[in-house]
Amino acid sequence: MIVQQNVSIKHLNTFGIDFKVDNYVIIDTMQVLKTLSEEKKLLKHKIQVGGGSNILCVEEQLHATLIHNQLKGKKVIKETEAHVWVEVMAGEKWHDFVLYAIENNWGGVENLSLIPGTVGAAPIQNIGAYGVEVGTCVEEVRAWNWNDKELLKFKKDDCKFGYRTSVFKEKWKQKILITSVVFKLDKQHHFNTTYGAITQELEKMGISTLSIKAISDAVTSIRKSKLPNPEELGNAGSFFKNPTIKISHFKELQKEHTLIPSYTLDAQHVKVPAGWLIEQCGWKGKKIGACGVHKDQALVIVNYGKASGNDIYQLSESIIQDVQSKFNILLEREVQILSNRLF
Ligand SMILES: Cc1cc2nc3c(=O)[nH]c(=O)nc-3n(C[C@H](O)[C@H](O)[C@H](O)COP(=O)(O)OP(=O)(O)OC[C@H]3O[C@@H](n4cnc5c(N)ncnc54)[C@H](O)[C@@H]3O)c2cc1C
Repeated sequence: MIVQQNVSIKHLNTFGIDFKVDNYVIIDTMQVLKTLSEEKKLLKHKIQVGGGSNILCVEEQLHATLIHNQLKGKKVIKETEAHVWVEVMAGEKWHDFVLYAIENNWGGVENLSLIPGTVGAAPIQNIGAYGVEVGTCVEEVRAWNWNDKELLKFKKDDCKFGYRTSVFKEKWKQKILITSVVFKLDKQHHFNTTYGAITQELEKMGISTLSIKAISDAVTSIRKSKLPNPEELGNAGSFFKNPTIKISHFKELQKEHTLIPSYTLDAQHVKVPAGWLIEQCGWKGKKIGACGVHKDQALVIVNYGKASGNDIYQLSESIIQDVQSKFNILLEREVQILSNRLF
């Protein structure tokens, strides 16, 4: 096991923020994981990352051990006429796994094409896009329990998947390291083209026969045209979650804001697009120092190059306050905040 000290994490967060960690360890084998488990001092304050595409560090120096998951590999563990079960190690890139599934003609994850990050982080916030959430095809999550030094297996129901959440983001947060995920993929495909502009994109691409590859290509193309590429403009995708509010509250808001959009969740609740709320507060395209709100996507906060984590955090605070005072809705950050105060 190699422990590096005082390491810059600029390359390991898609905001491109230059912060340092006291200690940095790469986990690329289960043996390294077991060895690290014995190092109480190193584990006192720890942060785990995969691709760093959903984190924001608000410190210049994080007094912690950053554990970088690079466990690699995938294998088929079971197969029937209709399904295949694949175990994928947590450090594999998510989009590489999507492409691997498509190459093998296994359906289920094609709508989740081009989401940055690793396979191990995907169940944590139950990544979702274009009408699909990863939880629908997760069969089991395998994870290392730092306290008991043993491997735990979470069946789908144990994961408690919800909108951008799971048991790994709540009860088990930073207590376990996800080592692999078992996916149940379909050999007989069920296409999901109802959400967003997939159908229009397929038409534009001249594709008339549906396939999982065609859907993946369409989603990839839409995402490339809509979202800023973190390699060119630092960002972490959607910064906030879409809030859920009571229908009674929504009806009140509708009186003043007749065009307020919503998605019905159940008889009592609706979800409101956070991007719309932020745009109504005048934030879309606004630049504050070296960071700002993206000109086309009000849900995306961007780093124009020299912003600190704290600059971005303060900007997100101002947005939260404005939305709260205009709509009486409290926005919740989707991005995970790293701070010495949270240890
Ligand atoms: C341009 C862009 C677009 C995006 N689009 C989407 C989208 O459409 N839908 C969506 O849901 N998300 C989206 N995201 C957010 C992000 O890609 C996902 O949340 C992704 O799953 C994060 O993976 P990661 O490996 O980078 O996680 P990291 O940022 O490294 O970590 C995120 C959190 O998970 C924890 N963690 C990471 N790996 C492990 C592990 N193995 N075990 C335990 N804990 C771990 C970390 O401690 C941290 O709390 C987008 C981000 C960007 C930059």
